[in-house]
Amino acid sequence: MSSNGSQLNPRLLRLSLIPALHRRAMLLLMLLTLIILLWPAPRSSSAPVAAPVTALAIPGLLADGWRDWQLAQLAANWQRVQQAVSAVHSAIVADARLRHYAIEPGDSLSRIFSRQGFSQQQLQQVLAADQSLLALDVLRPGHSLTFTLDDKLQLQAMELYVHAGNRVLYRREADGEFSYQELLDPGEWHSTTLAGTISGSFYQSAQQAGLTDAEIATVHQLFRDKLNFSRDIQAGARFQVVRSDNYVGSTATGQSRIEGVRLFNRRQQLNAFLHDNGQFYDASGESLERAFMRLPLSRTFRVSDDFNPRRLHPVTGRVRPHNGTDFATPTGTAVLAAAEGKVIRVENHPFAGRYIEIQHHGQFKTRYLHLQRALVRPGQRVERGQRIALSGASGRVTGAHLHYELHVNNRPVNPMTANIPLAEPVPDDSRDAFLQRVAFMIEQMEQETALAQLF
Ligand SMILES: [Zn+2]
Repeated sequence: MSSNGSQLNPRLLRLSLIPALHRRAMLLLMLLTLIILLWPAPRSSSAPVAAPVTALAIPGLLADGWRDWQLAQLAANWQRVQQAVSAVHSAIVADARLRHYAIEPGDSLSRIFSRQGFSQQQLQQVLAADQSLLALDVLRPGHSLTFTLDDKLQLQAMELYVHAGNRVLYRREADGEFSYQELLDPGEWHSTTLAGTISGSFYQSAQQAGLTDAEIATVHQLFRDKLNFSRDIQAGARFQVVRSDNYVGSTATGQSRIEGVRLFNRRQQLNAFLHDNGQFYDASGESLERAFMRLPLSRTFRVSDDFNPRRLHPVTGRVRPHNGTDFATPTGTAVLAAAEGKVIRVENHPFAGRYIEIQHHGQFKTRYLHLQRALVRPGQRVERGQRIALSGASGRVTGAHLHYELHVNNRPVNPMTANIPLAEPVPDDSRDAFLQRVAFMIEQMEQETALAQLF
């Protein structure tokens, strides 16, 4: 090092004699040499740290070894610089290839795609893949999208994160079309008991006890034939609710459901318990559901396409499930709500067309696709048999028809054969299991109430 230093000084003195461009080039070279020389050597280097001292102390025989070692160090340092540069480069590229987007209020997929610089064609391809799921139509804060891009920054894959137990992966296939794959983890349901005494309205007291608005609405609906909540409830009436919350690992997915309710008002006692078929019954197994209609139509129409979860796409050969039953209804046919419930979606989709989704009692949902016109708004309550739409041929269809879906516990089932609520008691084959579960929940409620009275 010292020999280098002694050669530098005279050179620096002569710098003024060198043309400006050369001077700059030389300074740059010297700077680079200095950086490489001063770059800290890797700790794992096989050369002992004391070597330079020895070499400097005894010039001659060891000097060659010292030079070799120095050259090896230079080479090693150069390699490290190159590695560092390429690591930075690949980090920049990887960053450009993987993008994460957290959904904001009011977001739509089409707006997100245009802001990300993805084409309309890519949007249409992803929406085509989502046609049987319709998972991308309700993007909410808390959901997120992760995009994987190829070298040309074209969309290669997209993951929709709904919650820890529900992700959907959309992937570009060799033929350029997108496929989808649901990544579901049912997780575990943990139940808690909420109890309270009513002072003022049931709504206020239930909210104070920790029930959500949707859960309070469920309780209202379950008992509405037996009790007028605004008139008949006496101060001091008590309620107990067993609620289950869904977890994947230690993460709450935000899904919850009421599994049991008891309400004590004057001498009246009301009960509701959820059975694993998605329906509510009282403690003795009598139905609290209102019957569903098998068809959401006022008369029978020919079934033009059956429910088929394993249906293959005629062109791509990939599984493209048919999650509903198609009825050959001419455009303008009245579509009826299959049961009472609340309209949760009225949407327009390039493939599913104009469609409506209704949340019913218990764990039931229905969807009505390819409508000409919707006669209801999101948030509206509807009765069984109420006219909700006129059927049509909207979206990507070969002819006018109504596509009708029934979902139980968030999974599509065959609407023509499924065990729909018929306002009948618990089926005989699961009656014992139901009564055991009721006894268990009542015990849970009693314990919680006894504990609450102690404190
Ligand atoms: Zn269909």
